[in-house]
Amino acid sequence: MPDLVRQSHLFGTPLREPPKDAETVNHRLLVRAGFVDQLMAGVYSYLPLGLRVLKKIEAIVRQEMNAIGGQEILMPSLHPKAIWERTGGWNSIDVLFKIKSRTDKEYALGQSEEEVVTPLVMSRINTYKELPLAVYQIHWKFRDELRSKSGLLRGREFYMKDMYSFHEHQEDFERFYEIVKNAYFRIFERLGLSAKATEASGGSFSEKISYEFMVLSDAGEDVILFCDTCEFCVNADITKQKEGTTCPKCRKGFLKKAKASEVGNVFDLGEKYGKDFDVSFLGRSGKKQYPVMGCYGIGISRLMGILVETFHDEKGILWPAAIAPFALHILEVGGRDGQATRDAAEKLATELSGAGLSVLYDDREGARPGEKFADADLIGVPWRVVVSPKHLANDTVGLKRRTEREERAVRTRDLARTLRETESLAG
Ligand SMILES: [Zn+2]
Repeated sequence: MPDLVRQSHLFGTPLREPPKDAETVNHRLLVRAGFVDQLMAGVYSYLPLGLRVLKKIEAIVRQEMNAIGGQEILMPSLHPKAIWERTGGWNSIDVLFKIKSRTDKEYALGQSEEEVVTPLVMSRINTYKELPLAVYQIHWKFRDELRSKSGLLRGREFYMKDMYSFHEHQEDFERFYEIVKNAYFRIFERLGLSAKATEASGGSFSEKISYEFMVLSDAGEDVILFCDTCEFCVNADITKQKEGTTCPKCRKGFLKKAKASEVGNVFDLGEKYGKDFDVSFLGRSGKKQYPVMGCYGIGISRLMGILVETFHDEKGILWPAAIAPFALHILEVGGRDGQATRDAAEKLATELSGAGLSVLYDDREGARPGEKFADADLIGVPWRVVVSPKHLANDTVGLKRRTEREERAVRTRDLARTLRETESLAG
């Protein structure tokens, strides 16, 4: 089916004014451009443009998780209190959302799902021969944040991929962690982000040892120190290392300091959850053993926010091609007497979408050309194609990348080929 959306029909057109309560770039641009709508702080609806981006990020994450043997499942968000009491999370996790039913029964909303997945998986595992096993899900998570004003960066309800792996012993978890780490780097690279993995940190507040994946970002909430030579990277909060000193790992490079955003995390869970639920398997020695587990998160809606924080200019968003809501934005700017340009733009939109390109077509008759240009910059589709009377007279269209300043004239009949060639050159 051709993917062609006419802007005159699109639900969620750009707003003239930015939202009043927006404190971050991603909140301001995503709401104003019509990608999301804020219901309350930290809780958003995804409009057609926003859902397209969310689903594209999701598809990339799913492909890479499947490629390393992850099996997708879907677990509930609504959990009985008892499983959270069993692990101690009910009292120790301050962001755990707790709700009470009309019969005074208490429940938690999932913020991570070790409490569900551990008994679920282990009820079906009998011996070490069935391990390792990795299952994951992609759905909504909840956190009872006191403050949630960073747009999609810190949601009270957010879309997340969480994978859980089960191993015979610690060495096997560490082997698998390296595989996941490489898959995570591939995901961030496909999204156009340059990520770094921090060294294991083992905070004293938790039994979990965690690894964080960070992207450099001026809007980042964290400060990292990283080596200019090797891949050493550490969260500045948990180290005594200073900027400018020699890297403790390679002893050649020097440490640099930068603001960064966390885009993924991995927790080394050890045997905690197996022990908490007393679920075991028969080991090689013939004795019962608790599984060594890992938890691997990527906040998909958070990534969408980070991508906007990373890729924008003063006019709007600059979506990387891999996750842009559309490949092409066709603008018809014929003005009041624009029947000829409307016919030409309609033909072009039909042809290009028929050739397999996803097309957003600005066919709004009431909108002035300046308004259409401004909205196109705000929405941030990678390629803009302008059909104007002047171009029409020369049998050309105006072609411009969102990241370029100047439009160039391309012969209409060469457009599809030009786009194909430029895309393949861009990789
Ligand atoms: Zn180094």
